[in-house]
Amino acid sequence: MANLPVTLAEIEQAARRIKGRVLETPFVLSAALTERCGVPVGLKLEHHQTTGSFKLRGATNAVLSLSPEARARGVVAASTGNHGRALAHAAKAEGAIATICMSRLVPENKVSEIRRLGANVRIIGKSQDEAQVEVDRLVAEDGLVMVPPFDHPAVVAGQGTLGLEIVAAMPDVATVLVPLSGGGLAAGVAAAVKGRSPRTRVIGLTMERGAAMKASLDAGHPVEVEEVESLADSLGGGIGLANEVTFQMCRALLDDVILLSEAEIAAGMRHAYREEREVVEGAGAVGIAALLSGRLGRLDGPVAVILSGRNVDMGQHLRVANGGDAA
Ligand SMILES: *Cc1c(COP(=O)(O)O)cnc(C)c1O
Repeated sequence: MANLPVTLAEIEQAARRIKGRVLETPFVLSAALTERCGVPVGLKLEHHQTTGSFKLRGATNAVLSLSPEARARGVVAASTGNHGRALAHAAKAEGAIATICMSRLVPENKVSEIRRLGANVRIIGKSQDEAQVEVDRLVAEDGLVMVPPFDHPAVVAGQGTLGLEIVAAMPDVATVLVPLSGGGLAAGVAAAVKGRSPRTRVIGLTMERGAAMKASLDAGHPVEVEEVESLADSLGGGIGLANEVTFQMCRALLDDVILLSEAEIAAGMRHAYREEREVVEGAGAVGIAALLSGRLGRLDGPVAVILSGRNVDMGQHLRVANGGDAA
């Protein structure tokens, strides 16, 4: 683990920095999954985190890591989802202004939610790429500080604090199941878990549709993939062709990456709801989905599963809970 961009010491420092500003979420044993898998299965209920996802950890650590001058200039990101909510909340909590750029196609309910969290919302263009152009302009012309959703050392270190909490709750954990998209969560959690418990396996889970990190790991360098709609919408998007942090960390630290179908993700959400009594979004249910799918093969236990978020459209959740798939 030498020479990786984020170290265990930096994750421990992040944990001290964000303590009291984010929730230390519960870790509970799942009786249903333990029985089914034949090894203890614990669930890290990170979807109970303030703003509904783990992204608050990385955003809070990034904002707190800024100099007072940088913080005063304000932070900016292009995000319609969990990172936007997290950055809006984290900035407001520290008395800084967050500007979140989104395209005109973003539904009004998402826009108003981010406004409600205290951010300036800037609606521009008709794609996420055009929103990012506006972010770059605000950085270049107005001196705002960009906080990206995953490819940034302070963000990865913040997400890694989740790994420290898992090892503290389950010291003999043998396998950790982590949702994977841009890889900020997986990189941070793997660095923390393997730093404290070197023999624990860390497995990334993502959807078959548009798995950019998996395609990049297979290619040996960051590649672009076509974006397709998925139940796990928080796992969409690329890893960035100029990726600096998460690609090399995922390559060095992940033991495996498993892809899941839409039906399997739906089954994961359904299990979370019916058996665990938890409302979890598609991206947050991929760990349970992997356990139910049998795709993990022989499983080393105890197992820890991260439920990463709960920001799902409740109409969609109801359809899935009642036995429907994606659309
Ligand atoms: C962002 C997100 C992920 C993926 O995290 P990365 O750091 O991009 O890999 C997983 N689950 C939820 C709920 C998310 O919001």
